[in-house]
Order: sequence, then structure tokens, then C-alpha cells
Amino acid sequence: MSAKLLILLEKVYRENYLNKEELEYILDNITYERAGPLFAYATQTRMKIYQDRVFLRSLVEISNCCKNNCLYCGIRKDNPYPERYRLLPDQILDCCLSAYQQGYRTFVLQGGEDNFFTTEMLAAIIREIKRNFPDMAVTLSLGERSREDYQEFFRAGADRYLLRHETISPELYRRYHPGMEQEKRIQALRDLKEIGYQVGAGFIVGLPGQDNKVLAEELLFLKEFKPAMVGIGPLIPHPETPLAGIKTGSVEKTLILLALIRLLLPEVLLPITTAVNTLDKMGWEKGLKAGANVIMPVITPASHRSKYEIYKNKGSVDGSKLTEIKDRIERAGFRVDMGRGDNPLWSKEI
Ligand code: SAH
Repeated sequence: MSAKLLILLEKVYRENYLNKEELEYILDNITYERAGPLFAYATQTRMKIYQDRVFLRSLVEISNCCKNNCLYCGIRKDNPYPERYRLLPDQILDCCLSAYQQGYRTFVLQGGEDNFFTTEMLAAIIREIKRNFPDMAVTLSLGERSREDYQEFFRAGADRYLLRHETISPELYRRYHPGMEQEKRIQALRDLKEIGYQVGAGFIVGLPGQDNKVLAEELLFLKEFKPAMVGIGPLIPHPETPLAGIKTGSVEKTLILLALIRLLLPEVLLPITTAVNTLDKMGWEKGLKAGANVIMPVITPASHRSKYEIYKNKGSVDGSKLTEIKDRIERAGFRVDMGRGDNPLWSKEI
């Protein structure tokens, strides 16, 4: 590894900041095989804040109906193939009960942008969860809704919101999200933060056109926005989308980016996303060693799981038994923490 690369890695470890040129230099010159010092710094940073703990979040996919047409996504509106479904409020509550009984203290509701779920319906579901399980953190990942909706869900008891910015490049955002506006998405992130949510931002790794310059900008946006959580994952082209047949995003690049995000935002909650574990059967282990500290097992009922196919073969790694998940984490040298796992900076910020 070159002296310049080592100096930059030490700098980001010590200062939690690098400028765009410096980040781009790292991305241009580092290889996964030689990223040992980067992963070591990321691990030290994670140990300082979270020790060897790994937080588990149960995730239920409440609807695969979506009004949007993101070019990469398998449940985009114009894909006629997926059998569309919606979970009923009672089914969602049953999932939450089962998650609670298994020991989970975070329940993530994810779905397409589906207006069938009105403000009132969702607020009622959140209230019901909080009434039955007051110590369960509720995370929403339901795309863009109005500020009033976000406010209403927060009042009902929601704690966190995951809304990836997908890409910070205006040109790429336009190319991959027909009919959507980047400014609206970023504003939604700001609204969520102002309301008091722990907010998750993040991007897709390997969108065609996203070079290291753009990736350096993605990282700097995160540094500046300071989300409580960051979700990134490699693009997995779906055969029923306009991106069918293009190159899959790199797991190795994703791991390098996870480590850099840990160094830029030491306290961030950083999941190894399902996409990483779909492409690499040792994805969780590698992610944990790159500074990630969250795993989000999908607990969508088996009868619907395969229909939430944002990318192909997603179902194959979902639905693992909790004991198997815990075994894997422990064998990798980490410890499972079933607590709520809030970002330590969050309570100070609200
Ligand atoms: N509708 C919600 C949830 C989207 S699914 C929202 O807008 O936030 C969660 C994430 O999956 C998306 O944010 C996107 O980054 C990712 N995703 C979608 N299709 C993908 C694909 N083909 N490969 C990799 N990641 C994908």
C-alpha cells in the first residue's frame, strides 16, 4: 500500500473527515485485498462506540405495490410480473408479536410507495404496536410521504425512518427515477430529521455512471447530513426491469465504502444489507469486519416473502432462523444485542 494511501487512512481515522479529492484518491487506489488497514481502523472505531455488539432488526415488507418506476427496482409500477400483495393491519401486528416473542426490540415496516395505506391506517397500526409493545422501536421505510404524514406517524410513536437518497448525483437521480425529484427526496430527509426521527439515508453501489467521483460525493453528503443510520448495498439488476443484464454492483467496493462510512460517522448505525448477503454467502461476516454493526433479518410471512422481489434471488437468504443468525454472528467473533440499539447521539440531538 502506498504511503499516501496509508496517511489518508490514518487521517480519516483520527479526524473523521476527508475532502472530496482525498476520498476519491482512496477509492481510486485501494483494493479489497489490500484494504486490511482500512478495515482495522473501521473496526477500532466501531469497538470504541459499540464494542462487539451487533443489533438485530426484524423487517416486514408490508406491501409490494408501488406508484414509482425506479429503473432498478423489481417492484416498480410498470413491471407486470410480480403478484401484488398488501398485508392487513392484523397480519402486520401478528408479525410484530412474533418478532417481539423472538426477542426483537426493533420492528421495521418497509414497502413500496402505496397510497392504499392512508395516513390514518398507518398511524393506527403504529399506535397499536406501541400500545402492545411499548419497548419496541418502530422504524418506517415507506418512501416519500408528506411532512404532515411523517409528523402524524411520529406522534403515533414511530422512532426511525429509512429513506435512502439513492444517489446524490442530480444527473443519475434523474436517469434512474423517472417522474421523481431529487430535491423532494432530500427535503423529505430534512423534514424527518427536524420532526425528530432517527433518520437513515444511503445509496446504491454500482449504478451505471456512478464513478469514484460520485461515490466521494455520496460519502460527503452523508458526512454533512449526519444521518443516525446509513444503508448502502450493491445493485442487483432485476431481469424484469430496464437494467436487466447490466453488471452487478461490487460487494468488495460496498465493504470498502462501509468502512469509510464508519470512519466518517463513528456513531452511525450501519447495517449489512440483504443485497450484500445475497451476493456473498459470507456477506454478514465480511460486513461486520468492515465496521458494520446491524443486521436486519426479513420476517415477512413466508407466503408473501418471494413477492417482495426488488432484485432476483432475494428470497433465498431471507427467513433464516434467529438461532442460525446468532450462531453466524458469534462465530465471526461478535455478540448479538437484542436491545433497541439507538444511535448514542440521537437523544442529544432532539
Ligand atoms: N419504497 C421504499 C423502500 C424501498 S426498498 C423507499 O423508497 O424508501 C429499499 C431499498 O432497496 C431502496 O431504497 C433501494 O436502494 C434498494 N433497491 C431497490 N432495487 C434494488 C436492486 N435491484 N438492487 C439493489 N438494491 C435495490
